[in-house]
Amino acid sequence: MPEAKLPTGPSSDLRPLDAPQCPLCGQPNACVPSASGRFDGACWCTELTLPPALFARLPESARGTACICRACALAAGARPRDPG
Ligand SMILES: [Zn+2]
Repeated sequence: MPEAKLPTGPSSDLRPLDAPQCPLCGQPNACVPSASGRFDGACWCTELTLPPALFARLPESARGTACICRACALAAGARPRDPG
């Protein structure tokens, strides 16, 4: 069966970056989209609310290039997201 093609838009080629390491500590960030190359898997980060201060700690060159690991997120005060 041919693969169904969705209408293409400017963001339809968006792919997770191949960046499996935390830019803060260099440890594996366990980023599911980065590992799988798809955005449709649940990642640990979707269960947490990451504080803006966490991103402020990143050097500008690292912003938007890799996910932070869970340990750094929790150390920076990430909280479990409210259910629902
Ligand atoms: Zn880290």
